[in-house]
Amino acid sequence: MATKKTVRDIEVEGKRVLVRVDFNVPLDRTTGVITDNSRIRATLPTIKYLIDHKARVILCSHLGRPDGRVVEALRMAPVAEQLSQLINLPVSTVPDCIGPEVERAAGSLNNGDILLLENLRFHTGEEANDSSFAQALARLADIYVDDAFGTAHRAHASTVGVAKYLPAVAGFLMEKELEALSSILTNPEHPFSALLGGAKVSDKIDLMQNIFDEVDLLLVGGGMAATFLKVQGYEVGLSLVEADKQDLAHQILKTAEKNGVSLLLPTDAMVSDSISPQAAGEVVSIADIPPNKYLADIGPQTIELFSQQIRQCRTVFWNGPMGVYEIPQFARGTRVLVELLANLKATTIIGGGSTAEIVEEMKLTDKMTHVSTGGGASLRFLEGKSLPGVDVLLDKEQ
Ligand code: ADP
Ligand code: MG
Repeated sequence: MATKKTVRDIEVEGKRVLVRVDFNVPLDRTTGVITDNSRIRATLPTIKYLIDHKARVILCSHLGRPDGRVVEALRMAPVAEQLSQLINLPVSTVPDCIGPEVERAAGSLNNGDILLLENLRFHTGEEANDSSFAQALARLADIYVDDAFGTAHRAHASTVGVAKYLPAVAGFLMEKELEALSSILTNPEHPFSALLGGAKVSDKIDLMQNIFDEVDLLLVGGGMAATFLKVQGYEVGLSLVEADKQDLAHQILKTAEKNGVSLLLPTDAMVSDSISPQAAGEVVSIADIPPNKYLADIGPQTIELFSQQIRQCRTVFWNGPMGVYEIPQFARGTRVLVELLANLKATTIIGGGSTAEIVEEMKLTDKMTHVSTGGGASLRFLEGKSLPGVDVLLDKEQ
């Protein structure tokens, strides 16, 4: 993929700059309070740069799933307030994201002003990538900046459509995401291991296949381990085995062997009668999973095995929790390895929504080399597929 132009490569002084950000923050269901502002914080470098370089900043984002209608609880006002506190500058809002009133507001901005548009998904044109909606957005500005890596895998009006009508460049968060994720596909420092988990093997097969050439070691935990274990002849009790993916899992085991990649599976597990907060766990060897139990987490011996391997690595990529981390008694495998990675002297890159959430919850984000803000987008990128929101940005060479 060609390197993309960024805000540094374009004159922004006095220009109206439409910045697509990912302000899709989690809100408390009852109070509407923002429970995690990390997505807002992640966009501050770009916004500050634009302000410092005397641009007129017009921010736009979606929030939640209003599906093309106005949903009062999903208005952007609380986000504007939070941003204003974080950046210590006024942030104005408008009741819509397109139309004459919004055009007037955008047109009367002074250098260094910040305007946050209303939720893009109040219009069906956003997700439909409708060209007249994209043009209405483009009319507000002179330049388009995409800093919403988390939505770059979706071809919407504000991520793809609008780039047809304005010079389009990347923001700093977008740049950082692309650099970090590209580095593991192109020139990772070896030994390089990928730690993969999560519920289903089907979600991760394309990823595994795409990193085979680079990776030295694959460590597989989580629910997805069950399908691999089954293929190797183990009984996995009530754990989900994706019958239609067994052939692929078998192929992956063979490819690993052929390419000299070690693929390690759990040697013991925390199993349980049910996956519920009341359920008690029990550690068993992988050969002794009872027929009436679920695999809920990797066991202590596996944690030790994976840890030993990870300590040898210069690069570690992690996607997908090792167990049902939402339930404390099944979170140990995931939490111990997060702690290990945070203290490792190596390049550590975290992709995946749940995985990033745990790292953030443990307040260890700053101790990783990079924690991707885009779960789906990072997975797509590492699968070697193109991201429509990135493709439309100007290449550096141009
Ligand atoms: P990410 O969002 O980081 O990419 P995934 O979406 O692939 O991760 O997987 C996250 C989910 O996987 C979590 O909800 C977790 O409970 C589930 N999970 C992990 N291990 C198991 C397991 N052994 N059995 C069932 N679900 C699991
Ligand atoms: Mg997920």
